[in-house]
Amino acid sequence: MINQTENRGITSIIIENLTDGLLFFNKENKVSLINPAACRVFQINKDDILGRKIDDFSNFEKLSNLFYLLGKEIKEYFKKELEINRDLILEVTSIPVEEKGDKIGSLVIIHNVTREKMIEKMKTEFVSISAHQLRTPLSEINWSLEVLGSEKIGKLTEGQKEVLKKAHYSNKRILNLVDDLLNVVKIEEGRRVYDLIPVDFENIVQSVIKLYQEKIRNKQIKFEFQVPNKKLPKVNVDTKKISLVIQNLLENAISYNIVGGMITIKLENKGKEIEFSIEDSGIGIPENEHKNVFQKFFRAENALKKETDGNGLGLFIVKNIVEAHNGRVWFESIKDKGSTFYFSLPVK
Ligand code: ADP
Repeated sequence: MINQTENRGITSIIIENLTDGLLFFNKENKVSLINPAACRVFQINKDDILGRKIDDFSNFEKLSNLFYLLGKEIKEYFKKELEINRDLILEVTSIPVEEKGDKIGSLVIIHNVTREKMIEKMKTEFVSISAHQLRTPLSEINWSLEVLGSEKIGKLTEGQKEVLKKAHYSNKRILNLVDDLLNVVKIEEGRRVYDLIPVDFENIVQSVIKLYQEKIRNKQIKFEFQVPNKKLPKVNVDTKKISLVIQNLLENAISYNIVGGMITIKLENKGKEIEFSIEDSGIGIPENEHKNVFQKFFRAENALKKETDGNGLGLFIVKNIVEAHNGRVWFESIKDKGSTFYFSLPVK
């Protein structure tokens, strides 16, 4: 049997030896415990900090960052990242501690995530450099194939045209993937250099629809574009990015549709927001996969069987772009019936 005293002894040894930093703030927001790992990471002496209030942290070089993150008082559970400098990135978790329903203080756990962050950054950089390097030669191949196909530099036989068409299609697919990867990298690096200007949203949607008219016709899809009678207010958006959102959604509505199906795009004025919706009569998304739809590289099982072309990046990009505009994105879908994807943008 281990008695209580022995137990307390073991607990304090564990706290002393933990590789994660620990700080405990009592009811008065004063530090009543700090372990050696926390002292090391913030380069402070235990005795200098015990009994101090969070406000006093601003007087210590590295601890001041923690003060700005925590604020004067810790009220609730949170997990946040704290970048002290390029070589020190911490994950700070604060947990309110209760005893018999009363709050007796807050525990703050400091976990060093510098290495993980570095690896993540290197991976993103690797994808970014590779995608950039691939883009130029791929565009050149695309251009060359288009020149050959136009027969401006020589007549082609039917067989040659067929081969060229396949090469052009495959090259376009790789180019699309590279473009998607570059968009994902921008999102992951937090590079949101958006050019927000007040625009007529209906015009943007019209321009995107024009790009897909042929595809819609080829699949014999009944297409409808519904707008309210009253002109919609302008929205503050980055036209290129929002066009990309609509392109991705329309492309999906076509790809995952049946031949002879239908697509309806609707714009609605919801007061503080403008709502875009796109309904299709396609294969739908199985309910058990709904929760994963906006995740990177997600592809539903039924989509994998039907359409081998996708890469699962489109909706991840859609969600990030819409949210960067302070908008919302959501969907409804029933397998074998169809899907409706929505997004809303705030009206200024
Ligand atoms: P991709 O279409 O390139 O696979 P997306 O990120 O655009 O990538 O879509 C992710 C997945 O979500 C698709 O592979 C498909 O399973 C599902 N999905 C998206 N839109 C639709 C839709 N309109 N109808 C049915 N499934 C869809």
